[in-house]
Amino acid sequence: MIGACVPYPGELPDDGRGRSFTGIVEGAYPGLDAGYNETQGLHFQVKAYGIDVVRAVSDKAEESYNRIMTDTGLYSFKPRGMYQIVVYGTQDEFRKKTGQPDWSAGVAVGNAIYTYVSPRLEGVLSHEMTHLIWFEFMGGRLTQEHRWINEGLAVFEEAKAVDPRGGASLFGSLRQTLRSSPIPMDQMMRLVPATERAYEVSLWYAQAEDMVRFLIQRGGRIGFSQFLTALRDGKDLDRAVSEGFPGQWRALEDFDLQWRRSLP
Ligand SMILES: [Zn+2]
Repeated sequence: MIGACVPYPGELPDDGRGRSFTGIVEGAYPGLDAGYNETQGLHFQVKAYGIDVVRAVSDKAEESYNRIMTDTGLYSFKPRGMYQIVVYGTQDEFRKKTGQPDWSAGVAVGNAIYTYVSPRLEGVLSHEMTHLIWFEFMGGRLTQEHRWINEGLAVFEEAKAVDPRGGASLFGSLRQTLRSSPIPMDQMMRLVPATERAYEVSLWYAQAEDMVRFLIQRGGRIGFSQFLTALRDGKDLDRAVSEGFPGQWRALEDFDLQWRRSLP
């Protein structure tokens, strides 16, 4: 039901300058029809129909942004420019203008999020925003074996946007399966779902979320920021784990083992 997520190399629409992945893609999809409203907050330029919608989305977006920065410990990270949020009036308009499949509720491309008015808007924004921040923080380099961390963080933040106290889980029905037969670590990195279709019933997504939750809650937010920084600097996962969480985990296998033991 939720976004198709951040496109990986080869999936990006041509922005007129070739598939310049490191560049900011502006106006990747057709915008809103005449008469829309817009506002600029601290980090987001929001476009939507109706001034009340624009204001509400802008407030929620800034809230989500702050929550993501707090959880990741990336306070020193400063985006190069404003992120764009385009909120179409209906799912129909979203589908027609972005060409997204009917199960997609939002998509992040370049420095922009495209979505539509729906009861899940807040969660979608948090999810896709996490991808924008990840993309820019990583210098536009997306690595397939890091995807479980990128998606895990996105669904972790989505769940928090829906319920800031963290009580609700997106993956309630999968908890039992996660306990009894978690996915081996090498498969988490290699066998990444091709799309986000029905991701809320995907064991891979449930496990990615739980692993990232464990990294942040057991390893600490400062450690998590150092872990992400090491990945950005091109260190491998073992090295990033040991640099980010010294005294906690020596390598990825060590983290994985303790995460498995943490399952109730
Ligand atoms: Zn995603």
